[in-house]
Amino acid sequence: MTHRPNSDAWPTGTMRAAAVAAPNVTKVLDLPIPAPAPGEVLVEPLRVGLCGTDLELLHGTASYVRDGRAPFPHVFGHEWVGRVAAVAADKERDATRRIAVGDRVVGHTMISCGDCRACHRGRRNECGALREVGLYGQQGAAAEYLRMPARALSVVPEDVQDAEAMLVEPAVTVLEGLERVRCVPGDRALVIGTGTIGLLAVQLTARMAGAVDVVGVEDNGLATARRMGARRVFLPGQAPAGHYDVVVEASGAAPAFHDALRCTGVGGRIAAIGVATEPVDGVHVGELVLRGITVHGIRHGLDQYDRVLELFRDKALTADGMIADVVPLERVGDAFALLQDTGRTAPKVALDPRAA
Ligand SMILES: [Zn+2]
Ligand SMILES: [Zn+2]
Repeated sequence: MTHRPNSDAWPTGTMRAAAVAAPNVTKVLDLPIPAPAPGEVLVEPLRVGLCGTDLELLHGTASYVRDGRAPFPHVFGHEWVGRVAAVAADKERDATRRIAVGDRVVGHTMISCGDCRACHRGRRNECGALREVGLYGQQGAAAEYLRMPARALSVVPEDVQDAEAMLVEPAVTVLEGLERVRCVPGDRALVIGTGTIGLLAVQLTARMAGAVDVVGVEDNGLATARRMGARRVFLPGQAPAGHYDVVVEASGAAPAFHDALRCTGVGGRIAAIGVATEPVDGVHVGELVLRGITVHGIRHGLDQYDRVLELFRDKALTADGMIADVVPLERVGDAFALLQDTGRTAPKVALDPRAA
């Protein structure tokens, strides 16, 4: 039971937390509420999005599980919005000063060390000693409470709904990808995939390029892509060859990379965001060279959180059509079952840690 002496005090006691207890087994556990530490903030998660990475944790196939960085029981949850319950100021208060009890916040998945070669060069995305919230080195958000470094939080503007804020984490990677390929008005653009990343990419690419075509396999996803402004939709292998300046590969299916290469025109740029779990056989590097194609692997968008929050606030991004259901934390097994149901109406499934 949570004991809270006054509204500003740091809660103590135990909390409910959803965990992967063994491959393909979820459990809701009672765990101690994380203790205060200088510069850290205690957050009550309001919505926690689940994605393919969480499925890999569930199945035990994630690299973090296989190399021992994510031991079971593992409290997952890296896409979330929450409310600040308590703040433990550090001496200089430099990072905690912008955060107050009651603020809504989103958390950065990657927590960089601040002290390695990449961090010193201002390239936090490439930090060599990362922790990733809910993946390894740091408890995830599928719990009543989560402790986060204040410096890894962004405050959510009032006009941004919880459902939108929950989508900021996947959206930062999409924005990073479109910046890396320098998507500009007039580009012929193609998005491959109609999952969460794909549909966020459809929304942003339509704005940045002026128009976007989409490749997908699921009727619901293709219909949503059309509603979000896709000009033409195609099944794999059907989009025009050599036609596009910018291609976003958001499906993670190994054969989709071949389709991305086939559709990219001379001088075109590919943002590879979907994480293919197997090698892509038969890629002809000579083709890349002679057609002058650039492939960008997009790791994450650690520096894009505040800009993506502004895009949701300004209605340049929407959560409409993105969320299949919100499920109470105690029914975490049902949430994962829905996430694996290819007939679900929308890509994202969310947990509500506060619902009974
Ligand atoms: Zn994710
Ligand atoms: Zn570092």
